[in-house]
Amino acid sequence: MMQIHSEQAMINFGAQLAKNFTPPLTIELTGDIGVGKTTLVKGIAEALGVAEPITSPSFTVSKTYQGNGTTLKHFDFYRLSDPGIMSEDFAEATNDPNTITIVEWASTVTDILPDNHLQINLSYNDDGSRSVEVVK
Ligand code: ADP
Ligand code: MG
Repeated sequence: MMQIHSEQAMINFGAQLAKNFTPPLTIELTGDIGVGKTTLVKGIAEALGVAEPITSPSFTVSKTYQGNGTTLKHFDFYRLSDPGIMSEDFAEATNDPNTITIVEWASTVTDILPDNHLQINLSYNDDGSRSVEVVK
């Protein structure tokens, strides 16, 4: 369990984590709205060599970024009660050997999450800091 005190520290933590990431890999991020899930993705993207700025995919459901030899696919199924065709897009990403897939609000796709996926749980602390727990 890590305690993170700022947005920048969350980015740094994501970048540090991502040093050990090799595709294919799927990561489920859990935690309330505004807790820092997308901020963590910014750090992961930075470490993967993504030059483009990371923005929340909540309206488009998914965004694709190119890193140094690795593709990063970022999904956000917030408020999507039925992922529809996006679940096929999701399955395609998680099955791609060159892709690191990160998903926020994965409840509608839990059935198709790879068995070996990484789960990272984020939560608020009373002082405004965030706790981050990496679960294998
Ligand atoms: P989520 O994707 O979980 O909804 P975001 O990453 O989009 O959350 O937003 C997190 C917000 O919280 C940002 O505005 C960020 O500046 C702020 N923030 C404050 N403290 C932290 C922290 N310790 N870690 C991450 N974000 C923080
Ligand atoms: Mg988000």
